[in-house]
Amino acid sequence: MPHEAISVFEIFKIGVGPSSSHTLGPWRAAQRFIESLYKQERLFQIQTIRVLLYGSLAKSGKGHGTDIAVQLGLIGADPVTIPVDSIDARIADILAMKKLILHGLHEIDFNPQEDIEFLVTESLPFHPNALTFLASFNDGSLIAETFYSVGGGFVVKEGEETIGQNAIQLPFPIDKADDLLHWCRTTGMSISEVVMENENCWRTEEETRVGLLNIWQVMKDCTYRGCHTKGMLPGGLNVTRRAADLNKKLLGDLTYNNYDEWLEAIRSGGNDFKYTLDWVSCFALAVNEENASFGRVVTAPTNGAAGVIPAVLHYYVCFCNGNIDEKILQFLLTAAETGSIFKKGATLSAAMGGCQAEIGVSSAMAAAGLTEALGGSQRQALMAAEIAMEHHLGLTCDPIGGLVQIPCIERNTMGAIKAITASQLALQSTPDFAKVSLDTVIKTMWDTAKDMSFKYKETSEGGLAVHIPISLPEC
Ligand code: SF4
Repeated sequence: MPHEAISVFEIFKIGVGPSSSHTLGPWRAAQRFIESLYKQERLFQIQTIRVLLYGSLAKSGKGHGTDIAVQLGLIGADPVTIPVDSIDARIADILAMKKLILHGLHEIDFNPQEDIEFLVTESLPFHPNALTFLASFNDGSLIAETFYSVGGGFVVKEGEETIGQNAIQLPFPIDKADDLLHWCRTTGMSISEVVMENENCWRTEEETRVGLLNIWQVMKDCTYRGCHTKGMLPGGLNVTRRAADLNKKLLGDLTYNNYDEWLEAIRSGGNDFKYTLDWVSCFALAVNEENASFGRVVTAPTNGAAGVIPAVLHYYVCFCNGNIDEKILQFLLTAAETGSIFKKGATLSAAMGGCQAEIGVSSAMAAAGLTEALGGSQRQALMAAEIAMEHHLGLTCDPIGGLVQIPCIERNTMGAIKAITASQLALQSTPDFAKVSLDTVIKTMWDTAKDMSFKYKETSEGGLAVHIPISLPEC
């Protein structure tokens, strides 16, 4: 049976908020579409482009910036490198000039208000997050290509049978948690060591280490920035950012000049339960307020859930003496493999599985990573992931106004705390006595996803989204 191979860098991706499936995925789809035409030497023959957004992308795409993302993708901007503070100006420019410079090279007429259509009553059968690019050429020909944003920033083009870097044969193929445990048992290696051996098929170990530490650096920058930025979030819901005020309240008169001094200041406050709890919330709020503001974040495994892993990692660094590169690498490798198993056995897409697929999975990933970093066994790490997901089963997705703000931002604080609790429970338990395995909870999550009403799958047609009008001030 073929095994899908997913690298740690497909689970952790540097990008721009607010949504991996509604922003990052469509952005990547637009990039792929235009790059492919460039490679076919057809870019300069393009006369017009239209973009059709279907299903969940149409219903909550405005709040998630899907239209912004496709324009940026079409002009050739990259979500990893674009200066995020330039986005507003570039989009305003396109609207004012009614021009798009495709791939940064070829100018066409383009009116985003007419040429990007939100088809809210139409869906395509393969996946709720679908978008089609239509291009006409100066010889009169037309092409249409459809892409699906299947969660976590992963994109599949219609007709493609496989996704990701899965043409590769890994030494330790893993589809399920049981496979992972099997390799750990037969080799005596930890989860992170097994994962690193697989990663060695794509690049050198040193390159993986550097790449992962860069992922951690982006998480640190994002957390620090979020803890020091006040104001109102965009989108019309008038949500006030809270992380900066909480940061100030917790640190009082302590002064610092940079990230490292900030960490020292946090550590100097001790580890009283309420103090620790407040910090975990503060870290998570900070990242997701950045995400909601089109800031740079690490998709982990999605943007809406981007705060859980940085919050738990900062908990580990600040309150468990974990500021050690080796331990951070263990955490990230173990967390990534856990996310990959969820992707293979269920979904990372809220449009398919509700919020259990986002916050639930990120919490399970963080729980497994933290458990390995704290010295737990492989079985304890997988047990922690199971516990974290077990208590997110059935969690719905109903963002108010289609914005990744309410309930999303606070929900990251909950996901982080559940991850820490799940890890502690697993570390204090004997996995032999566990009644539910990680594979069983993944199957249960997928069954629950299939049973869940479409209203709770990132459509903003149910739950909080229909009870709180967007015109109200912050609730
Ligand atoms: S409710 Fe959960 S799944 Fe839905 S957008 Fe918010 S964080 Fe993502």
